[in-house]
Amino acid sequence: MKTYNIALIKGDGIGPEIVDEATKVLDAIASSEGFDIQYNELLMGGCAYDITGDPLPKETIDTSINSDAVLFGAIGGERWDSLPREKRPESGLLRFRKELGVYANLRPAVVYDELINASSLKPEVVKGVDLMVVRELIGGIYFGEPKGREGDRAYNTMVYTRDEVVRIAHTAFKIAMERGKRVCSIDKANVLDVSQMWRETVEDVAKEYPEVTLSHMYVDNAAMQLIRDPKQFDVMLTGNIFGDILSDEASMLSGSIGLLPSASVGAKIGVYEPIHGSAPDIAGQGIANPIATIASASMMLRFALGEVNAADRVDAAIKQALSEGYRTQDIADYGAKEVCSTSEMGSIIANYAAK
Ligand code: NAD
Repeated sequence: MKTYNIALIKGDGIGPEIVDEATKVLDAIASSEGFDIQYNELLMGGCAYDITGDPLPKETIDTSINSDAVLFGAIGGERWDSLPREKRPESGLLRFRKELGVYANLRPAVVYDELINASSLKPEVVKGVDLMVVRELIGGIYFGEPKGREGDRAYNTMVYTRDEVVRIAHTAFKIAMERGKRVCSIDKANVLDVSQMWRETVEDVAKEYPEVTLSHMYVDNAAMQLIRDPKQFDVMLTGNIFGDILSDEASMLSGSIGLLPSASVGAKIGVYEPIHGSAPDIAGQGIANPIATIASASMMLRFALGEVNAADRVDAAIKQALSEGYRTQDIADYGAKEVCSTSEMGSIIANYAAK
């Protein structure tokens, strides 16, 4: 039987509760599809600091690098906020992504019909939205040199090399091939030299994917179009700072933070995690929505393990649970027939996925 090794990082706050539901669903789909998943539970975040004095122990990096993928809950909480910056849980996460060399952040934004009223936009605008933001994660202005402050002057530098653009463009085109075969590359080529090079490079990479239709859009227009007519997008390819802003904007189309997954992938290993944080305000109460983490596990099946059928079944199970009226408390106002706990929602989705 095919066996996958998954590094499992539950983290802090609601992390353990939501990750337990994701593994419940993974185990159900694995036995139904005929493969096996072995988990290596690893420490990161505040819980790691409490035990080892380091929010990112070396063992967590080493074991993760040698796994097929990382499934991650969330880290952080007020308890650790007063620690020196390098000891804080968030520093551990940034260091982790860097150590793993994950250069592409994938953020799907899907609007479920059943929760259409949770969006702040009109139902007719968001109905059927299903897009993916592919954001370059370890280059651009957040990392460019030189940067600094000199008296009343401060500066950062937006830098991309051709190779950095080539690899993220390939990621976007490959994903588009599995979806609607459309890539919209977002830049500011009317103003920025770096964007002009970005645009030329993306056009070169596009020649290797003749089935995919490539378009370009300036970032200011893209921010507007995402609100005006989000259904026009399939894959949005963009650099670090533009993607940071656009992916948060896109995530709000669905209206609930507890629903959306993400992946950060590199040449070898990917980290699959919900977009929300550790929600300390509701931790331990059994009311967190596990859907974002279950959907992240589905992305892991699809992109890291190549178990596309299993991923499709998990996605369908999430939709079925919602269409049958099951809701956790955060989305209870939108068509709940039955309000369920974190664990009940996990079991319902696991049962549907395994059928
Ligand atoms: P948050 O995402 O944890 O919570 C924001 C709000 O959304 C809270 O009211 C919370 O209860 C709610 N919420 C979040 N996830 C939910 C879920 N699955 N189900 C139901 N409700 C949910 O953001 P925050 O409060 O700004 O941050 C809390 C901690 O999380 C901080 O320490 C922050 O640094 C950390 N954080 C971690 C990550 C990560 O691990 N990737 C990301 C963001 C924030």
